[in-house]
Amino acid sequence: MDQVVDILVVEDEPAIADVVSLYLQREGWSVRVARDGQEALEAIDLRRPDLAILDLNLPRVHGLEILRRLRNHPPRDMSRGDVLVVILTDRSEERDRIQGLEMGADDYVAKPFSTAELVSRVKALLRRARWGPAAGAPEKRPLQFGQLMIDPLTRTVRVEGQEVSLTVTEFELLHFLARHPRQVFTREQLLESVWGYNEPLDARTVYVHVRRLRQKIESDPSRPAWLQTVWGTGYKFEPSDSAP
Ligand code: CA
Repeated sequence: MDQVVDILVVEDEPAIADVVSLYLQREGWSVRVARDGQEALEAIDLRRPDLAILDLNLPRVHGLEILRRLRNHPPRDMSRGDVLVVILTDRSEERDRIQGLEMGADDYVAKPFSTAELVSRVKALLRRARWGPAAGAPEKRPLQFGQLMIDPLTRTVRVEGQEVSLTVTEFELLHFLARHPRQVFTREQLLESVWGYNEPLDARTVYVHVRRLRQKIESDPSRPAWLQTVWGTGYKFEPSDSAP
């Protein structure tokens, strides 16, 4: 449990890479820096990080390709879990940002950003990955809704007995909603409860994560049985026990 967190910073602008790694090291985390896309792939092959801060706009290999590789290869050591990914995008590049979230990034930070803000996002992510979404003791009881099984102890989700591969954030979002069946949450409330942020953020992060979750667990993602939209308000979990 007391492993040092291994963070990979992928950033081609030296000034940003330096200040970000300095701040991260000050938190006691181990930091590696890759200065372009090719270096990033080599660093990942050498050792999978616990968390990657990934600039999307990179020389040689685009950040989205690196994200795809991170998400397509399961960790060798399952006890370390899936890699957490924060993407860095230019404020104007909304399409990249949405695509990054759709490809499984846990969060994004738009440039220019404050390094302190980035560090607080990283802390929130690590908290979520290791100790669950709430500050208090998280609920550890497995939940079963018809063909859907959610086990917070092993962080596994099964649909009709088949294990579904979820990112840390997807798991936490599903688990949070399922722990509060039929309760409606706004996107802002979900950002606060699941992502752990108090600042107003782009609620599309929630939208994209819900959409990805539906694609993974619902038999008909356009007519979801479990993850339902409440128009004009937000989302709720419907504890349907019928087969999907
Ligand atoms: Ca760049």
